[in-house]
Amino acid sequence: MGKIVRALSETGGVLCAAIDAFDIVSDIQKLHEASAAVTAALGRMAAAASLMGSMLKYEDDRLTIRINGGGACGVMTAVADYRGNVKCSVGNSKADAEDVESLVGSDGQLTVIKDMGLKEPYVGQIPLSSGNIARVLTEYYTISEQLPTVFTLGILFDDNLKVKAAGGYMVQVVPPVSEKSVMILDENLQNMSEIGAMLEQGFTPEEIALKALSGLGGEILDEWEAAYKCDCSREKTEQILLSLGRKELKRLADEHETTEVCCHFCNKKYLFNAEDMLKLLKKSS
Ligand SMILES: [Zn+2]
Repeated sequence: MGKIVRALSETGGVLCAAIDAFDIVSDIQKLHEASAAVTAALGRMAAAASLMGSMLKYEDDRLTIRINGGGACGVMTAVADYRGNVKCSVGNSKADAEDVESLVGSDGQLTVIKDMGLKEPYVGQIPLSSGNIARVLTEYYTISEQLPTVFTLGILFDDNLKVKAAGGYMVQVVPPVSEKSVMILDENLQNMSEIGAMLEQGFTPEEIALKALSGLGGEILDEWEAAYKCDCSREKTEQILLSLGRKELKRLADEHETTEVCCHFCNKKYLFNAEDMLKLLKKSS
C-alpha cells in the first residue's frame, strides 16, 4: 500500500500532500510489464494523480490526467479517486529513451479532467512546455487554476532496474498568505533533498510534508493508504462490447472463436466464447 498524508500550515495558507508510492509504482512496472523509462514516467504521473486525487472532496469524484507529448511512450493516462487510489495506462509500455523528458515528449497537451458528479466534468488543458511531468503540472495549476502549486516527483531504480523508491509531494499556496510565509516556504523547498533519495533514506510522507512546512507550524491534517486499483469487471467489459453495436458484435462472433478484451489499466483479459457473444447479441437487440 502507498501512503498519502496531507499537512497544513498553522495559518492555513499552505497545504502539502506527500506520498510514498513505492507499492503503486512497483505494481505499474509489473502489471504493464513496463520498461524502466516508462515506469519512471508513468509512475510520476500516477503519484501526481494520487496527490491531486487526494484533494477531491467526495467519494465518487474522479480525477484524470492525460499527457499526449508525442514521445515514444505514446499517450499516458492516470485516473485517481478521492483517496488517491490510482490506475494508469500507456500507449507503449516497452518504449525506451535516454531520459523521462524525451520519452514523454513535449509536442502536445496536458489535460486534467475532474469528474465531480456535475452534468459536465471540469476539463483543463495546457500545451506542454517540456516532458518534465512535475514542471508541467506546476504550470497547469498556475495557468489553468491560478493556484500557486509546486510538484516534486521522483523514482529510483536498483541495479536490476526494479523500483527501489518512488513518491513525491505537492505544495499549494491558498491566498491570503503572508509574504513572510511564502519566503519561508521558498527557502524550505530549495533546501529539500532530492525526493527519491529522501524516500530511500526512509523519510516517511509525514516527515516530508512537515519538512516542507517547517517554520510554518505545519500539522498533519489526515493520512490514508492508497493503492494501484483497477475497477474493471466482466460486467463493465460487456457494456463496452455492447457499445460497439450489433454489426460489430456479429462480426466479432463470426470471425473469432473467442473474443478477448484486455483492460488497458491492469492487463486483465476477459474472454467471450461464441455462446457469450450470442447472449450479448440477444441483449443488444
Ligand atoms: Zn482493469
